[in-house]
Amino acid sequence: MQDSNPRRRVRSPSGYPGYPNRPYLPEMPPLLEEGGRIGRSMARSLPCVPMGCSACCRETTMPLTKAEASLLARRTGLSVEDFTWRNNGILTLLNNEETRACVFLLTSSSEVSADGMCSVYEVRPQGCRTYPNVLNHEDKAILDEGCPHRHRFPEPSDDDAVVLLNLEERLLHEE
Ligand code: SF4
Ligand code: SF4
Repeated sequence: MQDSNPRRRVRSPSGYPGYPNRPYLPEMPPLLEEGGRIGRSMARSLPCVPMGCSACCRETTMPLTKAEASLLARRTGLSVEDFTWRNNGILTLLNNEETRACVFLLTSSSEVSADGMCSVYEVRPQGCRTYPNVLNHEDKAILDEGCPHRHRFPEPSDDDAVVLLNLEERLLHEE
């Protein structure tokens, strides 16, 4: 079943039910862009893996740019249509019909609390990297309530807001 939630994961919706529905593994994008080893080491220090959490990869509404989709297609051998759909015109990761999780999440369960690992971790979209940082309606970066372990993450900075605003701009201009 495809997710019917139209909200976009880079922005915190006001008044939307707070079930986990956002992307995964926030880090400092510049560091992660430069080397997988740094990325993996940072990932171990985040709560996601130690807590066995994959909540934000489930019923995902994660948007991605065309460039990110092309990279994923090249790395996986899939067609872009195999892992994306258009959510109000925005290219968005597709959920698996049985697990109701992102098609790239390695999991056999549709339970939100079940284990799962990202199979495209090194090339996951930027929104996946920055979560649980999201923008509120005042364009401030906040920790999203949909992340059950958000209190274990550092409070987002103004620079984090700029990263998300830039991402949102790119996504909107691709519509
Ligand atoms: S919901 Fe939070 S703790 Fe869980 S995988 Fe996503 S970012 Fe990590
Ligand atoms: S690409 Fe990976 S990190 Fe992003 S939602 Fe899918 S499984 Fe989660």
